[in-house]
Amino acid sequence: MKYLFKNISHLATFGPQKEITNAFVAVEENVITYVGKEAPEGEFDRTVDCSNMIMLPGFVNTHHHLYQSLTRNVRKVQNSKLFDWLVNLYEIWKNLDEEASYVSAAVAAAEMALSGVTTTSDMLYLYPEGKNSIFDEEIKGVSHVGLRFHPTRGAMSMSKKDGGLPPDSVVQTEDEILSEYERVISKYHDRSKYAMTRVALAPCSPFSVTEKLMIETREMAEEKDVLLHTHLSETKDEDEFCVEKFGLRPVDYMDKLGWLNPRVWFAHLVQLKDEEIEKLKKHDVGVAHCPSSNMRLGSGIAPITKMKGMRISLGVDGSASNDTGNMILEARNAMLLQRVKYGADALTPREALEFATLGGAKVLRMDDYIGSIEVGKAADLIMFDMNKLEFAGGLDDPVGAILMCDAKKVDFNMINGKIIVEDGKLLVEDIEKLIERQNEISNRLLRG
Ligand code: ZN
Repeated sequence: MKYLFKNISHLATFGPQKEITNAFVAVEENVITYVGKEAPEGEFDRTVDCSNMIMLPGFVNTHHHLYQSLTRNVRKVQNSKLFDWLVNLYEIWKNLDEEASYVSAAVAAAEMALSGVTTTSDMLYLYPEGKNSIFDEEIKGVSHVGLRFHPTRGAMSMSKKDGGLPPDSVVQTEDEILSEYERVISKYHDRSKYAMTRVALAPCSPFSVTEKLMIETREMAEEKDVLLHTHLSETKDEDEFCVEKFGLRPVDYMDKLGWLNPRVWFAHLVQLKDEEIEKLKKHDVGVAHCPSSNMRLGSGIAPITKMKGMRISLGVDGSASNDTGNMILEARNAMLLQRVKYGADALTPREALEFATLGGAKVLRMDDYIGSIEVGKAADLIMFDMNKLEFAGGLDDPVGAILMCDAKKVDFNMINGKIIVEDGKLLVEDIEKLIERQNEISNRLLRG
């Protein structure tokens, strides 16, 4: 298919061409072939008039736990902080199975597509009774919706009996985890340009993984040349845990394990001292900032304003600590939360939108083909209709209006040249059935 998007009212490329009004973008198959002010030559299969539209590159979400969409808003943990929240939810999550993984991944992916996500990561770290195939099922669930996917094979190896937080039934042995890492990399990791699936490795956190597994995971990531991800410096409880168990604060502990390097991105990074920020900057680690989750669990405000210059991205985090998967809202919350701590000019709407687009692509090391609207990049495009109620009276700066006026959802979403959302409607097969099944499974998990 050859598409021509004509008369785009406002185009924010997040590439070298910056912003263009009354712009044209052409797409052939899955690749952008033209971006500019003049109409391009040639024949097109479909021409889309975009005279009321704002176009951006699709959003890149760098931290999620898709299965948690089954346990949003669990009343028992509505008002709990991280460690209590986890201890209670592990008891529900330990009954997760293959179907639950597939359905929750599809539902969470559909929700993200409506909020403009074209690429997402995920961290699936819990394999009850050794159900390794739930990883395969989440890939199938996301591919049913059509998002570009960079899942991480998560892991937990340190249960209560070894001084960790999770119960025995959801952790695995180091040998099993290492062999699963190898299996999923060889089965799913696609190194080619425009890849729809890549895999990274992600031992869950310092309080659920042994030191040995952290090191062995890093060594395998180097050997297989894949990325590394984990949660870090999320709460004060984690600081205390690390000092007590390892004699080091989280960032220094990661340094000791060889985990401060450009292959790594960390979720959260809330409880940081200034010298730790400098250390992270020096080693070029990536950041997945999750402001909604940090607010929801009362974890604190990440010092993102002080971290500018690093590779910074946004993550909606799991739906049990958000409890939505809306990237527009995540970017808006990032902008607002920095202002609470650092003042009104701490983060502009464009900076927050850059975290959500090019920033995410850089963190996932996919910026050679996603994250901006440029010739040769993948056709991952989103649009907002400026005639919507929420924009009325707010169009002095249409691009800024997406966050300042809270756009809520996209009207158009194209991923790798395929339209997933059009006229504000999700074009995903069986979505009603999936929602119904999601509620049945959620009910079963909660009632035990
Ligand atoms: Zn998380």
